[in-house]
Amino acid sequence: MEIILGKYGELALKGLNKNQFENSMVRTIRKRVERCGEFNVYTAQSTVYVEPENDDADIDAAYEQIRRVFGLSAVVRAAVCDKDLDAVCETAEAYLGDSLDRVKSFKVNSKRADKKFPLTSMELSREVGAYLLDRHPELSVEMKDPDMTVICEIRDNAAYVHADQVPGAGGIPTGTGGKVACMLSGGIDSPVAAWKMARRGCDLVCVHFQSPPYTGERALYKVERLAWQVSRWAGRVCLFEVPFTDCQVNIRDNAPEDYFTVLMRRSMMRITQMIAEREECGAIATGESLGQVASQTMSAIRCTDIVADMPVFRPLIGDDKVEISECARNIGTFDISIEPYEDCCTIFTPKHPRTKPVLGSIEEAEKGILGLYEMETAAADSSVLKVIHFYDEDFV
Ligand code: ATP
Ligand code: MG
Repeated sequence: MEIILGKYGELALKGLNKNQFENSMVRTIRKRVERCGEFNVYTAQSTVYVEPENDDADIDAAYEQIRRVFGLSAVVRAAVCDKDLDAVCETAEAYLGDSLDRVKSFKVNSKRADKKFPLTSMELSREVGAYLLDRHPELSVEMKDPDMTVICEIRDNAAYVHADQVPGAGGIPTGTGGKVACMLSGGIDSPVAAWKMARRGCDLVCVHFQSPPYTGERALYKVERLAWQVSRWAGRVCLFEVPFTDCQVNIRDNAPEDYFTVLMRRSMMRITQMIAEREECGAIATGESLGQVASQTMSAIRCTDIVADMPVFRPLIGDDKVEISECARNIGTFDISIEPYEDCCTIFTPKHPRTKPVLGSIEEAEKGILGLYEMETAAADSSVLKVIHFYDEDFV
């Protein structure tokens, strides 16, 4: 029988209550594999076991799901057998024999969690190694840097044989970090920022500003697809779509042109905060990175930060565009982000925005924009919520 093992690092266990951690993990994994057939999901010895209950269970699909579950440092598919030397040898050959034919060198590593097992780890490795070498005489045994490692684990309930494990999604289990309101544009950066917040265990409430008729249906659909792509890791994303045109037009018509960008960002921040409070979020997150554009200088960030009275996280603040793009490719948002649809940020943008706005003058200019706060409240009130799940098929 084949099974999936998910391992969580000790690091994560230190900072969090172990039970809460395990419960969230098991709950998330159960939900993720629900559509792949019947699986028994349980934890033991800092490992999550995902065991198919019958032949209909699609273990390939379950494996793909589990690789995107936060809180697991490594994921591996393994064959299960009796805790008995012959069984382990035969299982190793049956399960990994074909892979061994494709490499030149190997070694066997054993871990014995059950100390009642009659052989030590060293002895078990040696026996299994000899058995495999017998059947693949062209192989060499290489302790340092072999092409393939055969791993035998003797645990409480059974023995498990597998090849090298692959890295899991890392981070902390979803649902253990509280809710965060992520400002999500159609760009490359903010989906990565949202993904990083989810990786720290946060549930995502995404807020997207749109400016019809300047931005269209396609741009909105693009953002929904970005949210869906992130939900394939986060499990679920609540997306608030905020009509922002009135606020933008009001700012454009009633403030100096070079203040437009900062004033617009303050306005977005206030609306996000209103939604964040209603949704009981503990913080706001954006995809800003220091110095990337005019609105992301320290003084510009100061001018926007000050209108929020909850923490504003910027998980990309120290990242280069190259690093952010690489992450976007890995999580599958990059190709969606580069599709060419207008974002509300790019309309009315002045040719020469202030890179060093002075807070006092910005506040002064804002006072001259009559009715702005009322418009912001109206925008938050008329925002539309879409709940997007990892299994939704509209966005594939
Ligand atoms: P991104 O790639 O995320 O769009 P950017 O480098 O284009 O970022 P800006 O356009 O200045 O930078 O936006 C900075 C941040 O403000 C974004 O990362 C995002 O968090 C937020 N933001 C910008 N536009 C929107 C929008 N239309 N809706 C919601 N949030 C937005
Ligand atoms: Mg942008």
